[in-house]
Amino acid sequence: MRKLAFKQCTLAGSLSFEGIGVHNGQPVKMTLGPAAPNSGYLVERHGENGRQVGPVRVHCSNIASTALCTVVDLGNSLSVATTEHVMSALAGLGVDNAEISVNGPECPIIDGSARPFADAILEVGLQIQPEERRFIKITRPVTVRNNDAFAVLEPYNGRAFDVEIDFDNDVIGRQRMIMDWTPAKFYSEVAGARTFGFAQDAKVLRQAGFALGSSLENSIAIGPDGVLNPEGLRYEDEFVRHKLLDAIGDLALARFPIYGRFRSYKGGHGLNALVMNSLFSNPQNYEIVLASELPLEFEALDDLPEGLHAQSYLRSVG
Ligand SMILES: [Zn+2]
Repeated sequence: MRKLAFKQCTLAGSLSFEGIGVHNGQPVKMTLGPAAPNSGYLVERHGENGRQVGPVRVHCSNIASTALCTVVDLGNSLSVATTEHVMSALAGLGVDNAEISVNGPECPIIDGSARPFADAILEVGLQIQPEERRFIKITRPVTVRNNDAFAVLEPYNGRAFDVEIDFDNDVIGRQRMIMDWTPAKFYSEVAGARTFGFAQDAKVLRQAGFALGSSLENSIAIGPDGVLNPEGLRYEDEFVRHKLLDAIGDLALARFPIYGRFRSYKGGHGLNALVMNSLFSNPQNYEIVLASELPLEFEALDDLPEGLHAQSYLRSVG
């Protein structure tokens, strides 16, 4: 098995997307572009009246809200909502550094999954950078709870996600997905899972200013007798896969990839933010390590989605 140095990577070019915000219903343009080594995910927003803020390095300590989506505060009273799906595509494919620019308060929803972002990233390709990748290694378990729901970050020799949902609803019910992360698995098993909601909640949500842009084009709608989308589901357990997609996108706000296991039961954006902030509240919970200090090696070329460069990807062999 090959043992190589683990370098950071960024996008090899720029990408642009046009769509609407699923919550505000307004048109928005978003571009993704390369960023320097060690810069992480930088977000820039062009607001009304020519106002601009950023680029700001986004971090879980700057989460403004987690009601139905993750909203990142950029300072100067400007924020960007629904960051989790584009963040999931970047982190899920192993992009360390990128700049995200939006001309409105919410990222475009496109089809409700991370696949359109992931496809575009694969098409433009990745640029390997000279600096070594760093990880946040979990050194002791951190748990946050809300009634019977919980989220945990715990020591683990690899990068794993274990997400379980339990809805009092026959269409969803109880679903669990456990995944040892690789970019290829992210792309084939997670990226295409769409966001979802209950048709019966739509009116109340819209009255509260949420889901104003939601439609069957960008969300799975669940009615009393089943899924309302004529095309049905992309995966039998698409709901839990989307929750895992959200978790990867939310945990991308930790600044570096997490080396450890994330577990959640009935979790969501709120608990994802809480468990990260709880992790960082005590320096004994984690350490920042270089990739070369971990028992990692790169994934075999055959396991990667077409277009990915083998040397930029890794998996645990521990
Ligand atoms: Zn989502």
